[in-house]
Amino acid sequence: MLALVQNCSTPLTRAVRPHTYGTYAFTAKACASISPRANSQSQVLLGLSENELKHLALDFGQEPYRGKQLHHFLYRRKLREIQDFTQLPQQFRNTLEEAGWKVGRSPIFETVTSADGTVKLLLKLEDNRLIETVGIPVMDDTVLTRLTACVSSQVGCPLRCSFCATGKGGYSRNLQRHEIVEQVLAIEEVFKHRVSNVVFMGMGEPMLNLKAVLEAHSCLNKDVQIGQRMITISTVGVPNTIKKLASYKLQSTLAVSLHAPNQKLRETIVPSAKSYPLDALMLDCRNYFRQTNRRVSFEYALLAGVNDSVEHAAELAELLHGSGSGYHVNLIPFNPIEGTEYKRPSKIAVQAFSGALESAKITVSVRHTRGLDANAACGQLRNKFQKTPLVNNPMDLAVSC
Ligand code: SF4
Repeated sequence: MLALVQNCSTPLTRAVRPHTYGTYAFTAKACASISPRANSQSQVLLGLSENELKHLALDFGQEPYRGKQLHHFLYRRKLREIQDFTQLPQQFRNTLEEAGWKVGRSPIFETVTSADGTVKLLLKLEDNRLIETVGIPVMDDTVLTRLTACVSSQVGCPLRCSFCATGKGGYSRNLQRHEIVEQVLAIEEVFKHRVSNVVFMGMGEPMLNLKAVLEAHSCLNKDVQIGQRMITISTVGVPNTIKKLASYKLQSTLAVSLHAPNQKLRETIVPSAKSYPLDALMLDCRNYFRQTNRRVSFEYALLAGVNDSVEHAAELAELLHGSGSGYHVNLIPFNPIEGTEYKRPSKIAVQAFSGALESAKITVSVRHTRGLDANAACGQLRNKFQKTPLVNNPMDLAVSC
């Protein structure tokens, strides 16, 4: 106990009171590790709220305003290293690092820019896994008016949708909160512009990592200051998770990847649909709209000769009308990838499909494919650099929320 008092500048009463910072517990033990021989396990600042950072400052014997400064350096200045927080006393910076704390930003391993300005980044995580994140700018003449970050929620994806390069590359683990938040900061860094919109449509199924996705959502909203309405959470459907998400009553959009108007066809495109019948999925979407008053949007990848006929469009309209109102369909003409037989539909087929939905009074938009020349299909770029099969850890497949 004496050693603890001598080694730690924190008042003992405070040092023994455990604080939990997000997923990290900071206790008297951690305080003892403030000595130069620090623990080897790092703790991450990114993702912590201002309040948590104030508690952290207090635990290090600092005034609470130091926590506010930490918040400023992380989310306003977006600095990558604790030693760059130069307005903090050198000793505080040192003790934070010696106690195993770090910012939690990953290096950019590869950047690919397409002719239309879309930028895809590969971030190299602490365990050397690579994840993709995409920045999609919208320009008005030469002025950037909107910048969307398409973020990953897992390293790879276990769901193996038949048209998806990420699914073909395997799955290794869920991302942690800070690993999701840092993707948005990396896009801002590259574009030197604030991200206005975030879509959880990168690698992985967000609903299989709902806890970290919700924590990241909160951080992006409250700390990075992106409006909830500017955030979209996408899913192909994981049983019991839409209900759970609805209970948080977020003002964000839920995007459900449907890709087929009936169960039989859907199972051939989205194998995981076998465990979540379309009827149950549509019922959960209906209840989501009722509970949150937020429109559900449906993503529909158009695969030539598979799901893109006007008959499919009519069946889709019928399905949506039978499931309530407040829906919107986003059509995504398939972006060809290696190793799949699927083909991109013709413009005429896309127009006919879209027209059939509109005449059935379904609101519809066709997503212009961005960054076709930048390996922009989800998972393509990562597969290029990380071909070795990812290790599946079945324990990670459980919904973590
Ligand atoms: S489409 Fe989405 S859910 Fe399906 S395999 Fe790809 S990343 Fe996973």
